[in-house]
Amino acid sequence: MSVTKARQIVLAARPQGKPRVTDFRLEETAVPTPGPGQVLLHVQYLSLDPYMRERMDDRESYQPPIPLGDVMPGESVATVVASHRPGYSAGDIVLAHTGWRTHALSDRSDLRKLDPAVAPVTTGLGALGMPGFTAYAGLRLIGKPKRNETVVVAAASGPVGSLVGQLAKLAGARAVGIAGGPEKCAYVKDELGFDAAVDHKGADFAANLAAACPDGIDVYFENVGGAVWQAVLPLLNQFARVPVSGLVAQYNDAGQGDRNDRLPATMRAVLFKSLTVRGFINYDFAADHYAAFLREVGAGIADGRIRYREDFVDGLEKAPEAFIGMLQGRNFGKLIVRV
Ligand code: NDP
Repeated sequence: MSVTKARQIVLAARPQGKPRVTDFRLEETAVPTPGPGQVLLHVQYLSLDPYMRERMDDRESYQPPIPLGDVMPGESVATVVASHRPGYSAGDIVLAHTGWRTHALSDRSDLRKLDPAVAPVTTGLGALGMPGFTAYAGLRLIGKPKRNETVVVAAASGPVGSLVGQLAKLAGARAVGIAGGPEKCAYVKDELGFDAAVDHKGADFAANLAAACPDGIDVYFENVGGAVWQAVLPLLNQFARVPVSGLVAQYNDAGQGDRNDRLPATMRAVLFKSLTVRGFINYDFAADHYAAFLREVGAGIADGRIRYREDFVDGLEKAPEAFIGMLQGRNFGKLIVRV
């Protein structure tokens, strides 16, 4: 018997600070019917990503706020159930922007077919997808690490940070990862092969980071902001490059700034150290560099030079809780919902 009911999670309320499960609502709907040019998708794996928190607030950002009552956005790995779109047939596995739901229609040109023979399909949400490309583009095109330089990245066990460090190592640089807790730090150093890992939750974090970077920092790949940035700032070398990829430590703030306002010190350092600080969104670089990323990182995964870790949660209804946990570091690796 074919499935007729679909489920979806919508934004029920705008969070005040940390999101709560009551900010989301699980709804049941009918499975939609594909029209001309459309495919019907059944979601298998949903990606949960920090940027989604930004979009829950009603404030200016690089993408518009999610309207209240709309399905939470997100990328997924889905199976084509029915197709009225040339080039797609039932059974194809695709990467799609479906949002947090079990079934979706798509007529978008950005569907990407995934081949399980090339790599596990879930890598399309992590190491071989948007987070992986963010690491690749930010490091290669903005960070530009040279041999023996020191590259530092936080959220180092996650899909962006883990690839930043591994690509830095492949470029001959020293890689220093910052992560929350001893287990994540051990993974970053022992399994991913970073030269050092520093626990940002430990006492003496700033002193430990300085000790791990005896020659200062040449590339700081900014994923978190907040207290980590404050510890990094005094260690930046002349002409250091700072690709600013994300600020997860402050996504739950209402944009009012940090209690310890280091903005003036930041701007002084930008000026007096001639720092290059460049914000970027991964798709700024996609047209020119995505194919090379898939080739290089795909080869690295296939031959084992590049490693990744995934953290699975079972059931669409668990997505809100898992998402809230990720913003506090409870995920360990790329967070994926098995829908
Ligand atoms: P992760 O899977 O690494 O999850 C986020 C991690 O952030 C947590 O696990 C936690 O790791 C860390 N974290 C949370 N709060 C803090 C804090 N206060 N201080 C230090 N670390 C904290 O996420 P991703 O790899 O998917 O994303 C990493 C960053 O990259 C995010 O800021 C994200 O927004 C950004 N990004 C940017 C893109 C772009 O195009 N510019 C695209 C994709 C991602 P831990 O326990 O180790 O602290």
